[in-house]
Amino acid sequence: MAYYHIWTIGCQMNQADSEQLATSLERLGYQSASEIEKADLIVLNSCVVRQSAENRVLGKLDLLKEIKRLSPDTVIALAGCMVDSEVAQLKHRFPHVALFLKPGQFNELLELAKAQAPKASGSFTTPKLSPTAFVTIIEGCNNFCSYCIVPYRRGREKSHPIAELRCQVESLVQRGAKEITLLGQNVDSYGHDLPDKPGLADLLQELNSIERLSRIRFLTSHPKDMSRKLIQAVASLEKVCEHISLPVQAGDDEILQAMGRGYTVQSYRELVEQIRFAIPTVALATDIIVGFPGETGEQFQRTIELISDLRFDTVHIAAYSARPGTLAAKRLKDNVSLSEKRRRLQEVEELQEKIASGINAQLLGQTMEVLVEGKKKGKWYGRTRTDKLVFFEKDADCLGQLVNIEVKKTSPWALQGSPKPSIVKT
Ligand code: SF4
Repeated sequence: MAYYHIWTIGCQMNQADSEQLATSLERLGYQSASEIEKADLIVLNSCVVRQSAENRVLGKLDLLKEIKRLSPDTVIALAGCMVDSEVAQLKHRFPHVALFLKPGQFNELLELAKAQAPKASGSFTTPKLSPTAFVTIIEGCNNFCSYCIVPYRRGREKSHPIAELRCQVESLVQRGAKEITLLGQNVDSYGHDLPDKPGLADLLQELNSIERLSRIRFLTSHPKDMSRKLIQAVASLEKVCEHISLPVQAGDDEILQAMGRGYTVQSYRELVEQIRFAIPTVALATDIIVGFPGETGEQFQRTIELISDLRFDTVHIAAYSARPGTLAAKRLKDNVSLSEKRRRLQEVEELQEKIASGINAQLLGQTMEVLVEGKKKGKWYGRTRTDKLVFFEKDADCLGQLVNIEVKKTSPWALQGSPKPSIVKT
């Protein structure tokens, strides 16, 4: 028996790529090794969007030198956004790595794995699937936000046709998936490169008709591209969850312009108003970057005001770090000190903690549908349609089931509850 180990960091696109790779390797007869030292084939699926992510990949690569020294037959592959056009340089830097694979491009690895595959292809069993699965609907990005390396590493937008995606989702549902998250760096531009130019709303409509699929989500939207038609689709299609991730990044127009985001604070506020009007129960998530080059204290306060006014359910916060090769790194001076970035980050975190605490407290006593994803420390956990994490206790196995949970306790990060007498759906 041969073993593989995939280590993944970064966005959900990377996670989806890794899940797909794991499935393909298991089809070839490989088994997952929980400990990296035991694997014959090791894949690092890397991310360079933030310096901290890149540092962790470099740390792993260092560790693998020793593994390769002790077991010279181990095949090591570096995949994902760290693999750019300078493969020769990477080879020179990391001689213990056998393969360098651009994001989502695993063919070379699969060919090699096939050639060395254990003689187990006849006894292949379909790998067990989590109740939630990711499907990439559009690769790459055409936006070139000034701080972002993604378009350089993942290339231009390329949508997968609706028929192909339907087949993929049906196959995941057959293997037990109940919830599908459609992924793209900018899902709102889905389809513009396909012959009949369908939109994300058309794709949602198509997938909504798949029997035994309970929930559909999509990530990530771009405020400049979200259409009325899409908002209406979320409002009217019963399987599409009331949860939208809409990164604003900053609350000041000059900073938004320097970021190259293509919208203003006012147009963002209007979009949020439109969404909340059409989908009153919607949960909104956003991303914020603090300490962008040139961001003054006053400009940062506008971000604070925006967060206070719009009261998001979730805010993902990052301190700006220059990514070599991006427009911001080339043209703008990273002039907000690290200590000030940290201070701003903490200010946003503290504000958001209060907001999320207030929003979640309103859920006390309500009954919410939860899709059970697993068990941690003796408690089942899962998510509501609005993406709230919920923990509860129950003796029976309810993995992959939709259960009704009455919320008994809330915090800014999660809810605790108890099951209502009957499981609503399986
Ligand atoms: S929309 Fe902007 S931030 Fe998002 S992936 Fe594209 S370039 Fe990067």
